[in-house]
Amino acid sequence: MNSEFNTILEKKKFDHGDIVTLLKSDDEQAGFLYRKASEVKEKHLGNVVHLRGLIEYSNICGKNCLYCGVRRVNHLIERYTLKDEEVLAAVRKAHKLNFGSVAIQAGENVSPAFTDNVESLIRAIRKETNNEIGITLSLGEQSSEVYRRWFDAGAHRYLLRIEASAIDLYRKVHPDDNMHDYNRRIECLKALQDTGYQTGTGVMIGLPYQTIDNLADDIIFMRDFDIDMCGMGPFIEHSDTPLGINGTDNLFLKARFGLTLRMIAIIRIVMKDINIVASTAMQAVDPAGREKAILCGANIIMPNLTPERYRPNYRIYENKPGYKEINEENISGLNLNLIPGATIGFGTWGDPVHYKRRRTET
Ligand code: SAM
Ligand code: SF4
Repeated sequence: MNSEFNTILEKKKFDHGDIVTLLKSDDEQAGFLYRKASEVKEKHLGNVVHLRGLIEYSNICGKNCLYCGVRRVNHLIERYTLKDEEVLAAVRKAHKLNFGSVAIQAGENVSPAFTDNVESLIRAIRKETNNEIGITLSLGEQSSEVYRRWFDAGAHRYLLRIEASAIDLYRKVHPDDNMHDYNRRIECLKALQDTGYQTGTGVMIGLPYQTIDNLADDIIFMRDFDIDMCGMGPFIEHSDTPLGINGTDNLFLKARFGLTLRMIAIIRIVMKDINIVASTAMQAVDPAGREKAILCGANIIMPNLTPERYRPNYRIYENKPGYKEINEENISGLNLNLIPGATIGFGTWGDPVHYKRRRTET
C-alpha cells in the first residue's frame, strides 16, 4: 500500500484521484507526504520563515458570511476602526523589530471614506518606513479601481480567500444574496492578478457540507488560477454564527487539523515556489500548529500587531490565539526547536518566488 502511495508522490502532476488518495492518507503515509513537501520547500525556497506583522485594522463589515464572528449582524462585538496613528505605531514597531512586511486585514467595507483612508495609510506606511516594509492587504471584495489605487499607492500583495472553490458549497456557507456572489469573488481575484498584485487565495477546511472531493478540487482550482500565495486553515466554529451555533466537536476539529496539514503539504508539492501561510487558526487547534504547518511546507507566519485592547473584538472564531503582545525575545513566537534548521527572514520582504517567475514567463 505504501509503495502505491509513494508512486503517487513521485508523479510529476497529480490528478483529482491522486489528491483524494493523498488527503485520505493514514498517519504513516502522511509522514511520507509531509517529508516530500518539506524537501520541495527546501529545494525551491530554503528553510526560511517570513513574517507579516498582522494589523487587524477594522472589524466593521458589510457582509454576513455564515461562519464568521465579525459578520455584520453580530451585535455582541464592539465595532472599531484603528486610528491612523495606531496603525502607524504598529508599523513602526514592525519596522523596529525588523519585520519584512505588514499585513492589513479588516472586515469588508467599500465606503469611499474607508477606501480613501486605506490609500492614504498605504502611502504613509511607505513614507514612514522609507519603502522598507512590504504591504499585504486583505480587505475583501473591492472595485478594480480601488484595487488599482491601493496598488499604485504601494501595496503589492493581496489575500482574498475563495473560501470554497465549489459554487454549491460556497452558496451553502454564505447568505443567498447579491453581496455574497461566488462569481464576483472570482472576478475580484482576476482583477487582483490583472492589477499586478502578488495574489493569494485559500479555503477553510472542515466546513459543514464540505467533502474530500471538494478539497481536491480546491487544490486544482489554486493550481489552475496560478496563485502566488496560499492561506488555508481549519474552519473553527463561533457560537454566535449560524454555522457555529451547535458548538465544536473536538474530535472532528482534530481531524480538520490533520486534513489542513495534508492540504498544505499537497499544495506545496503542486505549487513549489508559492508562499504558504501557517495560519493562526492552526495554532488555535494545537499550540504547535504553526510549527507543524511549517514542517509540512508553509513558510509564512503572521504575528499579531493589533493594539491589545481591540483584539477581543476581532474574534472571527472561538479561542483565537494572539491576544498577548509580541515577546521581543522571541518575535516570531515560534518554538524553533520544533523546526530544526528553520531561520526567520528578518528584514526581507519575502516575496513569493512564484510571482517573479510567473511575471518573467508571461
Ligand atoms: N473580510 C476579509 C475577507 O473576508 O476576505 C478579510 C478578513 S476575514 C476575517 C479573513 C478570513 O478569516 C476569511 O477569509 C475566512 O477564511 C477566515 N475565517 C472567518 N471565519 C472563520 C472561522 N469561523 N474559522 C476559520 N476561519 C475563518
Ligand atoms: Fe466579513 Fe470577512 Fe468575516 Fe465575511 S469573512 S463576515 S467578509 S470579516
